[in-house]
Amino acid sequence: MDLPALNAFLIDNKYPAFRARQITKNYYSGRYISFDQMTDLPKVLRDQLIANFDLLSVTPIQTYDSLHTQKTVLQLVDGLKIETVLMDYDGWLTACISSQVGCALGCTFCATGKMGLKRNLTTSEIIDQIIYWNTKLYPKYIGRVVFMGMGEPFMNWDNVFAAIKHINDKDGLNIGQRKISISTAGLADKIIDFANLNTQINLAVSLHSADQISRAQLMPIARKFDLETLKKACEIYTRKTNRQLFFEYALIRDKNDTQSHLNDIIEFMGNNRLFFLNIIPLNPIPNGLPPSNQQTLSLWEQQLSRHHVNFSFRRTFGQNIAAACGQLATTN
Ligand code: SAH
Ligand code: SF4
Repeated sequence: MDLPALNAFLIDNKYPAFRARQITKNYYSGRYISFDQMTDLPKVLRDQLIANFDLLSVTPIQTYDSLHTQKTVLQLVDGLKIETVLMDYDGWLTACISSQVGCALGCTFCATGKMGLKRNLTTSEIIDQIIYWNTKLYPKYIGRVVFMGMGEPFMNWDNVFAAIKHINDKDGLNIGQRKISISTAGLADKIIDFANLNTQINLAVSLHSADQISRAQLMPIARKFDLETLKKACEIYTRKTNRQLFFEYALIRDKNDTQSHLNDIIEFMGNNRLFFLNIIPLNPIPNGLPPSNQQTLSLWEQQLSRHHVNFSFRRTFGQNIAAACGQLATTN
């Protein structure tokens, strides 16, 4: 909901200040899907709110269910659509949320990248993806948030961090910073800006290759921020924050999974104990690249262990409903 507009409306209509607090609290509670259900408000006010505001800036169009994972297509006020994912495992309810409609960065393995960028999401549209899940889960609620849906969060910096402020605020969604993660395609300048914010928010970097040439083929943004620049920014981040930094690496047959790529990543991870490597399975997308075979996965696992790299092989859920990393795309 557009809270600044709501506050202005309440002031214009001479409502006492506690009404704003009451409505804001109701909104963040995840208990209501319409103003009419807020029976702690006078009927006249409820009617005015219905006439003037959308409680949520996103409208669910369709939901897909799979083991541990649900995906919902949400429509925005201008008709564009985004996707948001709920993951329910390890004892946590996690919302995987979008920061943009589409993405400008065009990574070759990613369905969102194939859409191009339509626009940035507003602060409300980012927050409302979580509130949408909370309304469905009530009285349970989202405990962790990951910016791993559609879009590059660092390309929508202002709205993403304005949203995080409310997501974290005790009078907002009250989700601790350590329970929030941002994933970036590797915008080195923004990684340093992020380190300087001095938060406890987790950072993941989509690496997908520790060799400049193959990385640039997979991720065009690597031409702007080459591997050396990216690695320097990551080192500044770990030095400054003393926090772990997660690298995402999806194994793609012949593109980034050869012995030479393996040697490169071992060297890249080498001397920084705060670097953590998440090997993720490549999720299939239409006309997409082929994943590595099982033999290659085993070889990587063995050699990464032998070289004492901090790593894990991440499970994936939701592939069958195209709700896994990089599969989110809408036809707008
Ligand atoms: N733009 C950001 C965040 C959204 S993408 C970023 O790129 O980091 C979320 C994650 O999905 C990233 O780690 C991305 O590299 C990964 N991803 C994209 N396409 C994928 C695919 N087909 N299979 C597996 N992971 C993919
Ligand atoms: Fe954009 Fe991330 Fe997909 Fe690359 S992987 S196209 S940066 S959403």
